[in-house]
Amino acid sequence: MKFHVLTLFPEMIRQGFGTSVTGRAMKNGLLALNAVDIREYSKDKHKHVDDYPYGGGAGMVMQPEPIGLAYADITKDMQKKPRVIYVTPQGSVFRQSMAEEFAREDELIFLCGHYEGVDERILEEIVTDYVSIGDYVLTGGELPALVMMDAISRLVPGVLNNEDSAEFESFHDNLLEHPHYTRPVEYHGKRVPDVLLSGHHENIDRWRREQSLKRTLERRPDLLETAVLTSKDLEYLQSLGWNHSPVSENVK
Ligand code: SAM
Repeated sequence: MKFHVLTLFPEMIRQGFGTSVTGRAMKNGLLALNAVDIREYSKDKHKHVDDYPYGGGAGMVMQPEPIGLAYADITKDMQKKPRVIYVTPQGSVFRQSMAEEFAREDELIFLCGHYEGVDERILEEIVTDYVSIGDYVLTGGELPALVMMDAISRLVPGVLNNEDSAEFESFHDNLLEHPHYTRPVEYHGKRVPDVLLSGHHENIDRWRREQSLKRTLERRPDLLETAVLTSKDLEYLQSLGWNHSPVSENVK
């Protein structure tokens, strides 16, 4: 998977992405990063990339030309038109299912805005997806792009040491993950649940599933409406007082 990031702060992207798991995956050749400095494509002698908004108002707007030239440069040898994600608070909110969809691409382009945003005409020309990380406004698109790139990267085969660890995490089946425990067996008077020490794998699996259902009901009951549930899960949820019906085709 190769990420191209159009940004005014390429160093921020390189440093963020070059750290920890994604950094290791780049060294192993599983991921590649092309952080492109939009400013280098400015034809202005002072390398300006922004200007005042037509119609007045506060702030500056990123101009279309440098972004268009940077885009043309990175796509000139591509066989097909890539997906171009403009990170914006005006987009659909990023979810695990989107990360799964984007992880199936070979190359992705992220466009990071700054100031008041980006001239609408270049967005209409190149953007395929408008995606937000949540209902709040940040100063720039670099952190949102890094958030999405991280979530996508860990779904690329081989990026995580143990691929299973991506499969049974939160949002798998639209449920939150069960709690985790490690050594010591007792900490500040609290013991690890006995079932986890029993070595009985079937009981452990059932306990984890029930904890995952219980936690989702307590913290994110909205997820249960579209969760993938078995009839045993439904019975358990009902015993906890959940009286909604999930989408029927999701009950196995
Ligand atoms: N004036 C814009 C608006 O009201 O929609 C906000 C501009 S914001 C100050 C600057 C840039 O940060 C945006 O162009 C976008 O790329 C990025 N950004 C800010 N908040 C974001 C969010 N929640 N999700 C994704 N990108 C965000």
